Amino acid sequence: MKKRVCVKDKEFELFLSEEEIKRAIGEIAFRIKRDLSGAHPLFVSILNGAFMFTAELMRHLDAPHDLVFARYSSYRGMETTGKVIEIMPVTTSIKGRTVILLEDIVDTGTTMQYVMEKLRQAGAEDIRLATLLFKPAALRCNLRPDYVGLEIPPVFIVGYGLDYNESGRTFKDIYRLVK
Ligand code: 5GP
Ligand code: MG
Repeated sequence: MKKRVCVKDKEFELFLSEEEIKRAIGEIAFRIKRDLSGAHPLFVSILNGAFMFTAELMRHLDAPHDLVFARYSSYRGMETTGKVIEIMPVTTSIKGRTVILLEDIVDTGTTMQYVMEKLRQAGAEDIRLATLLFKPAALRCNLRPDYVGLEIPPVFIVGYGLDYNESGRTFKDIYRLVK
């Protein structure tokens, strides 16, 4: 595990180890299993960022469930644009289903608020949000994630699925920007 990494023009320092991240995901899995075993939920994993979180979470789940992917984008560089772009919608029928959104990080909450409204309009019966990371101080809307891995301060991070201009996604640990 490296203490510092360079991604493009920026330097980042170790912030969360793979071990800490995996422990947090194990706890989310435990809570989801406790709450929703028997509900046959549909997991909707939000690309690109949530791919590592999703893969790790799925290792813990055994009760029947389905998994699909959707893709939304709102970030450019290190900032939110405030606008959400739908790149790949959910194509499966979600009418009457228990849906669990899997997101890498909730920052302003704009993306998840938008996606949850879309799923509601499409007839989902119950919509829950599981996010690996949550920056409560950055939240700009009335959104309460149901399952949170780790709460973090409003810093810019990369790794474990999160990118800086499409680089740095595949680090096993999470790094924060060095000011
Ligand atoms: P929100 O809509 O909540 O403001 O932003 C959510 C999306 O912005 C996340 O899914 C993620 O793609 C991106 N994002 C938010 N904070 C960070 C961060 O610290 N690092 C990276 N790489 N992406 C972030
Ligand atoms: Mg994301």
